[in-house]
Amino acid sequence: MFIRLSGTNHILGHRLRVKNFPKPTRQIHIPYLIIGGGISGLSAARQFRKRGISDFLVLELENHLGGNSSNGENQYSKFPLGAHYLPLPNFHDKTLLKFLEEEKIILGYNAKGFPEFDEAQLTFTPQERLFYKNEWQEGLVPKYGNSNADENEFQVFFAKMDYFRETKGADGNYLFDIPLMNSSKDAQTLKLDNITMKQWLDENQLTSKSLIAYVDYCCRDDFGLGIDFVSAWAGIHYFAGRKHNVTSDRKENVLTWPEGNARLAMHLKKYSEGKTLKNHLAYEVKTAGNKTVVHAFDDRKKESVEIIADKVILATPQFVNQYLLENRMQIGREFQYAPWLLATLTVSDLTDNYSYPLSWDNVIHGSKGLGYIYDQHQSVQQVQPKKVITYYYSFSSSDIRKSRRTLYRQKKDYWKQMVFDDLKKAHPDIEEKTEEISIHLLGHGMISPVPGFLFGVAKKEAAKNIENKIFFAHSDLAGISIFEEAFHQGINVVNAILDGTTLDS
Ligand SMILES: Cc1cc2nc3c(=O)[nH]c(=O)nc-3n(C[C@H](O)[C@H](O)[C@H](O)COP(=O)(O)OP(=O)(O)OC[C@H]3O[C@@H](n4cnc5c(N)ncnc54)[C@H](O)[C@@H]3O)c2cc1C
Repeated sequence: MFIRLSGTNHILGHRLRVKNFPKPTRQIHIPYLIIGGGISGLSAARQFRKRGISDFLVLELENHLGGNSSNGENQYSKFPLGAHYLPLPNFHDKTLLKFLEEEKIILGYNAKGFPEFDEAQLTFTPQERLFYKNEWQEGLVPKYGNSNADENEFQVFFAKMDYFRETKGADGNYLFDIPLMNSSKDAQTLKLDNITMKQWLDENQLTSKSLIAYVDYCCRDDFGLGIDFVSAWAGIHYFAGRKHNVTSDRKENVLTWPEGNARLAMHLKKYSEGKTLKNHLAYEVKTAGNKTVVHAFDDRKKESVEIIADKVILATPQFVNQYLLENRMQIGREFQYAPWLLATLTVSDLTDNYSYPLSWDNVIHGSKGLGYIYDQHQSVQQVQPKKVITYYYSFSSSDIRKSRRTLYRQKKDYWKQMVFDDLKKAHPDIEEKTEEISIHLLGHGMISPVPGFLFGVAKKEAAKNIENKIFFAHSDLAGISIFEEAFHQGINVVNAILDGTTLDS
């Protein structure tokens, strides 16, 4: 079996701590510089173009754009190296609907005014299955095998989530919305950010093991941290932020592609074509007079470059910004990121007990990982010579830093075995059937909204521009790591620069 190990360029990134870079030998002058080519940076580039501005550059440390929305590819399929789907957006998010329309993901609008999504980009059925009590069943919420008490608790839980989804605060905003900054500032609801999701479940006498395992899975899936560590406001937002109101039948569905959200990154990339410096690590950002001076290391030529810009957008996470800017360590420390591990397996066959067929998303109830995506699911080719699946694992613990050290210390054989041991619960012969495994490590995968963070001081401070010259846009400033947040961060920051408006995180 062939094992491959990859990850974000943490070796180059870690040089930010020692900053042993050569002195700059060249200069570039540019009005606008975007540092970071993830979704937020690419969205900012798109917004510049939409506003008629093309004299900008995008600086990216990796040899490709996309950040957490990047992908890999083998001879059988493309596969995600991070984000893999976009749930159907809220109907009132017209900016996102417009983007989806431009990219022919929305093909038009029906007589009732609802968008018509391209069927080929919506998950094909069967969409989700759950391995629960030794059987696969449809959906991720267990329908069979629960006691009556479990059933009751699921009903109570979902009724509460419906309330949170539909209700608006006195300020007229939904209690929970996307982007998060549009949510109501209702004081009672904000208090939910002070407790963990587990505490909220306890307070509401929700103790069913089956329900707890399900909610824990959802939190680990969206935030990298489980119910014991994640804020209740964030946990509820997972269920209540999406209104399921963009189609007339209010069906929950997602948009997905074999390469995951790298498809969306690809659509955004065209706006910065010919304006990108890849393999460039920004290592210092300072204001000087009426300009901003950025020092970056060109990892290909092994030389440094000085970029002088009028305005700089840091579309980089705060754990990076703390090394680029002076006096940012305190703020940086408040941002916690859950490490992630992805493993893409090429298997000759995926034997299971076929109680429910292989689906796009396949989750094993109560397992350590988050299950796997069948990467070829959206292919119209029914019979595949080999199957390609991507397994997801987030390191949910009270000591994220320790998890990160473990992530990088352990060898690839260790991770391979962990993946197999987890998948064996549903696929006992997975190890013999696997021909190739690519393990992808993300040390700072995802911002984790621990209690007190979402509406705390650090997040607000981190979003404030510096002397009207250095601006910020990254999904971690929202506190929730999803495409929509990064997309809107990029748009809002450009509007703030060009219109002089202030940003609210
Ligand atoms: C495992 C995983 C699964 C996910 N799944 C989903 C999903 O299914 N759906 C979803 O909506 N979201 C998902 N997400 C969230 C995802 O992070 C966001 O959707 C989005 O891609 C974040 O974009 P961003 O621009 O905010 O950040 P990033 O992707 O972090 O982009 C930042 C960019 O800055 C670059 N950079 C960093 N430091 C420097 C420097 N010093 N110099 C130059 N460049 C630098 C980085 O290389 C990167 O390209 C997932 C995240 C992870 C980790």
